[in-house]
Amino acid sequence: MHLDDALRQGGFRRWYERQLIEGHVWLVTAFLALIMVAIALEVLDFRGSRAGVLALAAIVVAGLALVAFAVRRFHLLLGRAEQLAEQAVCGRCRSYGRFDVVQGHDAPESLTGRSVRVRCRGCAHEWQIG
Ligand SMILES: [Zn+2]
Repeated sequence: MHLDDALRQGGFRRWYERQLIEGHVWLVTAFLALIMVAIALEVLDFRGSRAGVLALAAIVVAGLALVAFAVRRFHLLLGRAEQLAEQAVCGRCRSYGRFDVVQGHDAPESLTGRSVRVRCRGCAHEWQIG
């Protein structure tokens, strides 16, 4: 879903809250995957069967890949949420997160991939976020 669609659907504060929740779900996923890796390393016995060692080594590698992916997602989501939170303040009346979406368009250089024109609900000032 595009950023402007998500903002239209539930507003900025709801979008922000969802980014934080999803980001922290990825953080918990990374932590659980790290525990999985630690357990696999703990039970790894090189004197055991070759198939058992390979299976545990595969679990370690997959767990480390999951940790890296989850930590990256966590940072991406929180970074994006923080960047948009800084832009969500009206330049005229200083109200936070109280705006309507006017229009959005693709902006590959933006962290969100979209540039969204918004209008303050308090004073009708317009600015760009994304
Ligand atoms: Zn305003």
